[in-house]
Amino acid sequence: MERRALIAGNWKMNTTIAEAQALAAEVVRVSAKFTDRDVAVAPPFTALAAVAKILGKTPVRLAAQNVHWETSGAYTGEISPAMLTDVGCSMAIVGHSERRHIFGESDELINRRIKGALAHGISPVFCIGETLDEREGDRTFAVLENQIRCGLAGVDITGTPELIIAYEPVWAIGTGKTASADQAQEVHSFIRGLIGEIYEKTLAGQTRILYGGSVKSDNINILMGEADIDGALVGGAALAVESFAGIISFSAT
Ligand code: PEP
Repeated sequence: MERRALIAGNWKMNTTIAEAQALAAEVVRVSAKFTDRDVAVAPPFTALAAVAKILGKTPVRLAAQNVHWETSGAYTGEISPAMLTDVGCSMAIVGHSERRHIFGESDELINRRIKGALAHGISPVFCIGETLDEREGDRTFAVLENQIRCGLAGVDITGTPELIIAYEPVWAIGTGKTASADQAQEVHSFIRGLIGEIYEKTLAGQTRILYGGSVKSDNINILMGEADIDGALVGGAALAVESFAGIISFSAT
């Protein structure tokens, strides 16, 4: 089955509300040229409502950078899935390496976030990735398998909304080092195989797997040429219109 490409921008802890609105307006303008791909932006929580207004009824999707699993309650600093749908989000990044490594989020916590998102109609963009030490120690596949099995324990991905996976090698995030297209493809194919093993093959064939880690307009085409790379989760290069436009406008080689 043909999987639609998805280019998602993670703005992290950047942009004022005015900057976010301006950037979102440009993303809408550039994306309007394409009907064969999906585009999403993940502004900081403070800008979600303002960006939702800019996106309006355009196909550009609004994503949050994290999501809790409860609807409401005493969880200082967290945002519930119900609050996110209320503001117009249909996607949420979960398990980003910065959440795992800076804030100590565990696989178990990430599993709860994924379940919470899906239960409320939000597509989780479930991030996984190995550190440089793990790669050099030949543990990449074991680490990823563990992250996937724990993160998806008891998760039903047969319905809607869809679960999206983002393979983001930690050593490539914000470092300027991108995995080569071959390295990324090898891992994406492994991930798809594992999803087929845990669930079933047809479902694995429908699951979008994004690559993330220093994606730029000059490496997106070759990455998108790989059979199992279905799009990109973009950090730094999503913060400037010119660079994000170049990525949205990819043509797979
Ligand atoms: C990210 O944070 O998800 C990411 C991929 O960042 P960058 O593109 O800056 O490496």
